[in-house]
Parts: sequence; C-alpha cells; structure tokens
Amino acid sequence: MPDPAAASPAEPIEAEVVIVGAGPVGLFQIFELGLLGISAHIIDSLAQVGGQCTELYPDKPIYDIPALPICGAQELIDRLVEQAKPFKATYHLGQEVTEVRVMPGGKLFVATSAGTCFHAGAVVIAGGVGSFQPRRLALEGLDRLEGKCVHYRVKTAADFHDKDIVICGGGDSALDWTVALHDKARSLTLVHRRAEFRAAPASVARMRELVAAGRMQFIEGTVVAHQTDNERLATVEVQTADGGRSRVRAEQVLAFFGLHPKLGPIAEWGLDLEKKALRVDTEKFQTNVPGIFAIGDINTYPGKKKLILSGFHEAALAAFGIQHHLFPGKRQFLQYTTTSPIMQKRLGVGGAEDAQESV
Ligand SMILES: Cc1cc2nc3c(=O)[nH]c(=O)nc-3n(C[C@H](O)[C@H](O)[C@H](O)COP(=O)(O)OP(=O)(O)OC[C@H]3O[C@@H](n4cnc5c(N)ncnc54)[C@H](O)[C@@H]3O)c2cc1C
Repeated sequence: MPDPAAASPAEPIEAEVVIVGAGPVGLFQIFELGLLGISAHIIDSLAQVGGQCTELYPDKPIYDIPALPICGAQELIDRLVEQAKPFKATYHLGQEVTEVRVMPGGKLFVATSAGTCFHAGAVVIAGGVGSFQPRRLALEGLDRLEGKCVHYRVKTAADFHDKDIVICGGGDSALDWTVALHDKARSLTLVHRRAEFRAAPASVARMRELVAAGRMQFIEGTVVAHQTDNERLATVEVQTADGGRSRVRAEQVLAFFGLHPKLGPIAEWGLDLEKKALRVDTEKFQTNVPGIFAIGDINTYPGKKKLILSGFHEAALAAFGIQHHLFPGKRQFLQYTTTSPIMQKRLGVGGAEDAQESV
C-alpha cells in the first residue's frame, strides 16, 4: 500500500496531472498516463486507496474483469497499485479535493482540505459516486461538538484514555475500538440497536467476555438525546430495546455507522452535470472545461455503464487526450507494450536500455 504523502507544503506542487479519486479507475489512470511518459499525483478523501472496492465490498469476488475469471475486490486494488508502481505517482490520502479552477494561462489550480495545492497541466476526476462521508448521529446540536466530543473516526487513540466513552455501532470499527479502548477508558459503553453484530465473530465474543467480567457495558438501544456541561458533552440518553431510557456518562462519543457517498465539492467546479454525473465526450472523456477530464462512475455519456471495465477503457483514451492537451504539437501514435522499447523502459522491464525517453 502506498504511503500517504508527507505534511502539506505551503508552496503549490507543480504537477503534470492531478487525479482526483484513487478508486480502481483513478489507479489505472496512473498506469495509462505512465505508459505515455506522463507523471501523476493522486488524491483521495479516504485514508486508503481502492474506492468502492475497498470501502464497500473488499472480500467479494468480481467475475467480470477481463482475463481474471475471479478476483477479490481488494485483490483487484492491490494488483492495480502494483501495476502502477513503476510510474511512481505521489499519493495524497485522507484529504478531499475542495477546489479545481482554471488559472490565467490555462493551468489548473487544485486545493485540498489539508491545505495541499497544485498547479496542474490537466486534472482527471475519477471521483466515483463522490467522496465517502460518515453517517452522523442525527441529534440536534451535536454537530457543534464534532471533533471535540463527538467523533466518526479515531485520529489519536490517546485522546480517549481516561475518559467516559460511548461507542455506537455494530460493525468492525465499533467492535475493534471497543476491544482496543476498554482498558484505557475510565468507562466504556457500547450502544447498538440490536443484539446481533456485523463485526468479526472473534471481536463480538471478546466484547461479550468483557461485559460478563464487568469491564464495560453493552446497551441494546439507540442514542436519542445528549446533555452538555459548559459546552462539553456530559451524558447521553439511550432509548433501550425494551422501551426504557438509560442515561450514560459520556465525555466522548465515537459513532461508527458506516459511510455514504456524497458528490460534494465536485458539483461546485463549474462543470456540466447531468443527474449528479459529469458530462464528457467519448473521444477523450473531457468535460466542458478544457484540461479537466472525468472517468469512471463519475461521468456520463450516451450508453454509459458504471462498470470497472468501462472505466479502464475511459482511462486509456483520456491518457491520449491528456497527452494532446499537454503537448499539442506532438504527433500521437499507438505503441504496444509487447514491442515498444520506450514503454518497456518506462515500465522498468528488460531489454530496453537504449530506448530514447520522450513524451
Ligand atoms: C457491492 C458492489 C459490487 C460491485 N460489483 C462490481 C462488479 O462485479 N463489476 C464491476 O465492474 N463493477 C462492480 N461494482 C461497481 C464498481 O465498484 C464501480 O464501478 C467502481 O468502483 C468505480 O470506480 P471509480 O474509480 O470510478 O470510483 P470509486 O470506486 O467510487 O472511487 C472514487 C474515489 O474518489 C474519491 N473521491 C470522490 N470525490 C473526491 C474528492 N472531492 N476528493 C478526494 N477524493 C474524492 C472517493 O473517496 C473514492 O475513493 C460494484 C459496486 C458495488 C457497490
């Protein structure tokens, strides 16, 4: 797995191409650009690459990837990362692209939620169904406490030491953090609407042992209200499955209800949209703004099918479109990886020592 990029620089990064979204299609775009000698930076709002494959169905088998009769979704992502490795893309993970705009002179300005900025020759939006956002606890006034007392992911586990913690949810994240934090917290309560869990059976069994040993409590129910003390969270109220109400000490609440996709800032970049998808041509997969391309689930055109296979084809043609955009004077011709010394040199495979590097 590639490392997230280091701390955000103050100066804009000069980039040939910035890819927004590191799902399967964004990852394959690195490869297709690399074959043409074009380098890329790739950004994703999630902390890991893989888009829907990794986030929604990592263990499910996929049966319609050409030449792979069966391939696990995470396995596909691992293979795409491996295939793109020779092209040394820079990965910027855990940051959302908030702004893309054309600068005077035609280059594109790209900014992320972490303060990283780019001056790019071209941008490829491979944002899928949008960036994944946590499903939030729907309690009035709770948003003001987000990041201070209410969290949807753990940034630093030590922040929860010696605190009264309530963890909400019944999946792997909820159970993993319950097990990990039970002996660090002052008190820990797990709240889940049912007595059945979606998490790994071993973590569920461990949680039940901890409850039986009196080291934490589990309440079957839903958090329905909260009380604060001096702008800090003090307690939450749980509507229990048997119809009662229970008030629990809660300095910190961690809620893990899963993620849902949201088109988000992409809708604000002045690009033609049709039903939350970006309209593109089918020659280059370029949007209405020259230099901004869109591939994968995020785009639409007559006959569009939201398949990984379609996204791969779009990435190949977009790479040629981008090459033409960056180097309009250059004559384009098709080369095969099997026989092209220059492509083999770029791939770092044998027998191509005297190939001339050019774009
Ligand atoms: C359960 C399930 C099963 C499926 N099975 C198949 C199958 O068998 N075969 C098949 O072909 N397809 C299948 N699909 C569809 C397939 O997963 C999608 O077509 C594919 O993931 C699209 O890839 P993508 O790279 O375009 O987008 P995604 O995989 O959606 O990745 C987009 C990425 O962009 C990021 N992003 C979005 N906006 C921003 C932003 N502003 N800043 C930073 N990052 C951003 C997101 O965080 C995300 O990681 C399945 C889908 C599901 C849900």
